[in-house]
Amino acid sequence: MTENNTGRTESPYEYSFEYIQKKLEGAKDSFGLLMKEIVRTGICTECATCAAVCPVLEWDDLAGQPKLIGKCTGCGICYNQCPRTITDPYQLIGDFKTGYVANTNIPEVIGGQDGGTVTSLLCYLFDEHLIDAAIVTMRDPNKPWYPTAQIITSKDDAVKSSGSIYSHSQTVEALMDAVRQDFRSIAFVGTPCNIDAVSKMFDSPTGMLKYFMRCHVLKIGLFCMDSFAPEALYPFFEKENIDLSKVVKMDINKGKFHLYYDLQGEPVKSYTIKQLDKFKSSSCNFCTDLTAEHADISIGSVGSGPNKNTVFARTGIGSEIVEDAAKKGYIKIDSFNSINLNSVLFLAKLKKVSQYTVRKRKVFIVRDVEEKEQARIETGPEADQSAVKPPLGTRKFLSVSQDLREQDKILNISLTNTIGYVLEDMKIRIVTVEELFEKKPWITTIREIFPFETVEIGYPLDIPDGQPIIANILVEASTEAFGKIFSRTFKLAPKE
Ligand SMILES: Cc1cc2nc3c(=O)[nH]c(=O)nc-3n(C[C@H](O)[C@H](O)[C@H](O)COP(=O)(O)OP(=O)(O)OC[C@H]3O[C@@H](n4cnc5c(N)ncnc54)[C@H](O)[C@@H]3O)c2cc1C
Ligand code: SF4
Ligand code: SF4
Ligand code: SF4
Repeated sequence: MTENNTGRTESPYEYSFEYIQKKLEGAKDSFGLLMKEIVRTGICTECATCAAVCPVLEWDDLAGQPKLIGKCTGCGICYNQCPRTITDPYQLIGDFKTGYVANTNIPEVIGGQDGGTVTSLLCYLFDEHLIDAAIVTMRDPNKPWYPTAQIITSKDDAVKSSGSIYSHSQTVEALMDAVRQDFRSIAFVGTPCNIDAVSKMFDSPTGMLKYFMRCHVLKIGLFCMDSFAPEALYPFFEKENIDLSKVVKMDINKGKFHLYYDLQGEPVKSYTIKQLDKFKSSSCNFCTDLTAEHADISIGSVGSGPNKNTVFARTGIGSEIVEDAAKKGYIKIDSFNSINLNSVLFLAKLKKVSQYTVRKRKVFIVRDVEEKEQARIETGPEADQSAVKPPLGTRKFLSVSQDLREQDKILNISLTNTIGYVLEDMKIRIVTVEELFEKKPWITTIREIFPFETVEIGYPLDIPDGQPIIANILVEASTEAFGKIFSRTFKLAPKE
């Protein structure tokens, strides 16, 4: 701690709002995103704020939605001013005092999921006699990789409990057992939904823990994007010849689920989260809290490098514990500015907006069509129409990139509308070119693609097992209004 010239004590781990602002700058939150997340999903309130703040948007009374009448620059103002979008950092990751990048600094913690910070904090709390019990989740000895919530009372057991199990664990049951067994100061480790259950018990007027007032609970929340139903996921793994009793670690990282037989080695098998989507616990589709917003200390991996944790201290006691544990050599910490906040905010936003996708837009056509159409002619629709036609050849219509999923033999092709106008009825054609012949054509029409909106296409490659991936893939796009707007052959060959 240092004293500044106003006499106020400053922690080296304090953060500033300017920093967050800087991190958010440059995000391409544009009209396309507004249409996709707010208008198409049916949560637009028809306030017309978007049209009011932008010279190239007008309110379309007939459709009950904003309409692009000129060239969109992708500035993102319409998206950011919309009352329905979630763009404020506090809305995305909750309130907190400060944050750190952390990892263990004690030799006992070797099998931590990421940086081993959770386990190291539990070790510190036991050594300092700040807790007499902790609620953790361990692997069930009788059913490999099924979670079992446990009350632990020692540092040794804390070390044994490290590692993540990506399934719901009944941690609150264990907490109530601990309260009944007269433990007075308890550290509780849980996913955001677990933390919410405990918070409700403390905060609601009829809350069980509040009512008995018999213990103090330190809430250590884990970041959580989703969890899986073990009774469905594990039989799938077994069918894929994975021996669960040999698995030493499961890990979700950058959209992939990895299984390891050896902690030092490569994963024995990896799946994209999309591939495992059908095994996801249905509750997680309705969950909007990535970072355990109601915990004292929230800990995850996104936002920090390998073998590190991103930590948010949300309460006074939370930050005191993290900083004292660092001072006493249990963990190493770096300041808030070392967190890659953009990636945390990005994932938090994915989770917040997931609630929108559960409903489809309903449009009621009860307006007076005739009257509105006449009014539109009076405002000079001819001029407006010409404004939406961009001059040909001045700029690229589409930006196209490819990413090869070698294991699945799928070529992911991303097409982004970069022209600033809505492209309508865009025909996409993807083919494999062999000598002079075309094979495996894949053709579709995209009804509309908004400025800076991206569509992704997974094109399956016809390569026999064991053969290197060598192919020429032609991608073409055209619209009725502008003709062919993109044509390029991607040459796939093994890396040297
Ligand atoms: C279901 C689930 C989903 C997650 N998703 C993400 C994510 O999308 N992004 C991200 O950054 N981080 C996610 N995490 C958190 C991440 O996996 C690590 O738990 C976190 O980074 C702490 O790492 P560590 O090395 O400090 O943990 P460790 O020191 O290894 O300690 C892990 C602690 O987690 C507890 N635990 C394990 N499984 C469960 C469970 N099912 N329920 C409750 N407690 C459990 C253990 O008791 C242990 O105390 C998720 C965790 C879980 C359990
Ligand atoms: S600002 Fe948002 S809620 Fe308001 S009309 Fe536009 S899209 Fe709808
Ligand atoms: S220019 Fe595009 S992104 Fe910017 S406010 Fe207008 S419609 Fe939205
Ligand atoms: S995604 Fe939400 S509901 Fe699912 S386990 Fe995580 S915190 Fe709980």
